[in-house]
Amino acid sequence: MKTVGFAAYDPKKPLAPYEFERRALRPNDVAMEILFCGVCHSDLHTARNDWGWSYYPIVPGHEIVGRVTAVGPQVNRYKVGDHVAVGCLVDSCQECDQCQKGEEQLCREGMTGTYGGHDRITKAPNQGGYSKHLIVREEFCLSMPAGLDLSKAAPLLCAGITTWSPLKTWNVGVGSRVGVIGLGGLGHMAVKLAVGLGADVTVVSRSAAKEADALALGASRLLVSADEEAMAQAANHFDLIIDTVPVKHDITPYLALLDVDATLVLVGQVGPMNEFNTVPMLMGRRRVAGSPIGGIKETQEMLDFCAEKNILPDCEMIRMDEINEAFERMENADVRYRFVIDMATLPAGATA
Ligand SMILES: [Zn+2]
Ligand SMILES: [Zn+2]
Repeated sequence: MKTVGFAAYDPKKPLAPYEFERRALRPNDVAMEILFCGVCHSDLHTARNDWGWSYYPIVPGHEIVGRVTAVGPQVNRYKVGDHVAVGCLVDSCQECDQCQKGEEQLCREGMTGTYGGHDRITKAPNQGGYSKHLIVREEFCLSMPAGLDLSKAAPLLCAGITTWSPLKTWNVGVGSRVGVIGLGGLGHMAVKLAVGLGADVTVVSRSAAKEADALALGASRLLVSADEEAMAQAANHFDLIIDTVPVKHDITPYLALLDVDATLVLVGQVGPMNEFNTVPMLMGRRRVAGSPIGGIKETQEMLDFCAEKNILPDCEMIRMDEINEAFERMENADVRYRFVIDMATLPAGATA
């Protein structure tokens, strides 16, 4: 199937139109027309080969919302016309203990990325959602619940599940005390989802500049990390801190904010971190953890929860040809809080 998208051809060049082939429909595949695709920091890192595993051309995009256009003969959960979604993973072994538990993101053979991964059968490089069409096996296709605004829901597929999964792993519920460090694409979803679960949420930020935003998102307060007195007063306060900062930083000042046995979970920075002091970890039996996206079942639960509670990301809609400018603005944290590409703006070019 011929399709069209926007690809990075080189780490240093802007994204540009790209015509390419999607695989032929397999018996257990769902084909969709992509309606909207969110713009994630990983898209930018991958386009620029910041993690060293990019291939070119590469089509980024793993916050995908679409409409089913065809299904293989073995597909029974979806039919033509259904609204569906695809996140960061499109395949896994389906047999290991983690896959059996619904934790495909932790597959022992490694999950297969929507982009940046290779097809498990043909070994061809996968291409992501900055495109007109996508084909995915049924098990990795999610159902968009009725009532969820399709034009805003796309960022739930990465920013949403990345913050939802730790909230569930560490049993956040009514009355839980949750801290969120960083108020970008991930951070604003962490606040909304934790508030939706009934938690008391504090945004931890370097200055008070984002206080009004934090409160508008549902947080109870903003804690200024540069204010030593306020930080000392907040010692032992949190059951869970979600650290969404996407760059190398020092977590030491935040560790004392955790209660005994509580956890700071890193979801933003992928790669080396600054040294940190273990004293607050040892003295409070506190924990530092990491968490990658979430499994398919958990992602569907998150989508259903968001539909029920009407939780949606704050989005800025862009045209496909505005993507390079959007990357620049995202790097400068100049977006509230997620760009979403309207795929109707992608020139038709080659179609199915
Ligand atoms: Zn992402
Ligand atoms: Zn597996």
